[in-house]
Formats: sequence, C-alpha cells, structure tokens
Amino acid sequence: MKTIQEQGYTFHEWLKPEQIAKDVKQVAARISADYADKEPLFVVVLNGAFVFAADLIRALKDVRCEITFIRVSSYWGMSTTGQLEFIVPLQQVVDNRDVIIIEDIVDSGLTIHQLKAHMRAQGATSVRVASMLFKPGKLEYEDAKPDYIGHELTDEFVIGYGLDFDGFVRNLPSIYKVDNE
Ligand code: 5GP
Repeated sequence: MKTIQEQGYTFHEWLKPEQIAKDVKQVAARISADYADKEPLFVVVLNGAFVFAADLIRALKDVRCEITFIRVSSYWGMSTTGQLEFIVPLQQVVDNRDVIIIEDIVDSGLTIHQLKAHMRAQGATSVRVASMLFKPGKLEYEDAKPDYIGHELTDEFVIGYGLDFDGFVRNLPSIYKVDNE
C-alpha cells in the first residue's frame, strides 16, 4: 500500500485517481439530470474544493451555469475551531438563483450550515450541496448533509485532492487517510 509522511504522521492511499474520477462522474450525472432546465450558480468553497470543482464542472452534461468562489476558514491542523471566518466573501448576487455549494468535505457540518443560512438570507431560490467527501458520523447540523456525495468515510483525517494539512499536500492526486497507530 502506498504511504506518505507529512509532519511526522503516516498517511496511506485510500482513493486512487481512477476511483475519484468515478465518484466525480456519478455526482456530475446526478447534477446534470437535476439541473437540465435550470441555470445554477456554483459556489466553490476555497481553498479545499478547487480541485473537485474543476473536475466536477467539466463533467457536467448540458448544464448552463455560472461559477463563483467564497473562502472560509474553520480548521487549523487536524481539528475544527468552531468559528467560521469569511476570508473571501460572496461576490455574486444569489438572489433568485439556484445555488449549488461545492465543498471538499463535510465533517461537523458547521461550514455548510452557516453558508446555507447565508445564501438563504441573500435570497437564493434553492441551496444544495455537492461534496467530494462526507463524514456522516461526525455530522452535528442535520441541514448540512450534502445532496450530492462523492464518497463517505468515518472520522479519519484525510489529505490530498485539494484537502490540506496546514496548507500543504493539496496537490496530491489521490486521497490519503491518516494512520492512527
Ligand atoms: P465542517 O465545518 O463540516 O466541520 O468542516 C468542513 C471543513 O473542514 C472542510 O471544508 C475542510 O476544509 C475541513 N476538514 C474537515 N475534515 C477534514 C479532513 O479530514 N481533512 C482535511 N484536510 N480537512 C478537513
């Protein structure tokens, strides 16, 4: 099994690029079917979701859409701070729009819970969430369960494919899980 070392921790390869491509295709097919007659606005949550978003939007079939970016921060190291900070605020008008938030991973759901409330307060017609990864066992906010999920996992810390460890390793093409022992 392929392993890497990062900041004294060992990570093993969990999702290879071929599996990630299948997951992205499946999510894109569902969104394409659901939004064929709409013109959704994708809101990509930076920094982590940029890799997934780039693959996802190019895998959509016949969806006329717009893409914008928002940057928030709630994590440092391996645990959440519980505080959501808007580093790059929403720059697009979401009033009367069908919004799809693109996330890398939903963990406690705090980020999505707050972002959904924010979009609704700005007048979005609908707000759905597409997340590459979802940790159902960690969810604390029921409304944050993603509508479109690439892959589920338990509560392990993962890196790669956009997901960082204190800013590094986002460029790994596979997704790696931390070894706990
Ligand atoms: P939540 O608000 O759902 O607790 O956390 C969402 C954010 O926390 C994600 O966008 C991501 O930046 C970060 N996060 C949660 N779990 C992990 C993880 O296992 N690995 C990494 N690298 N980031 C994570």
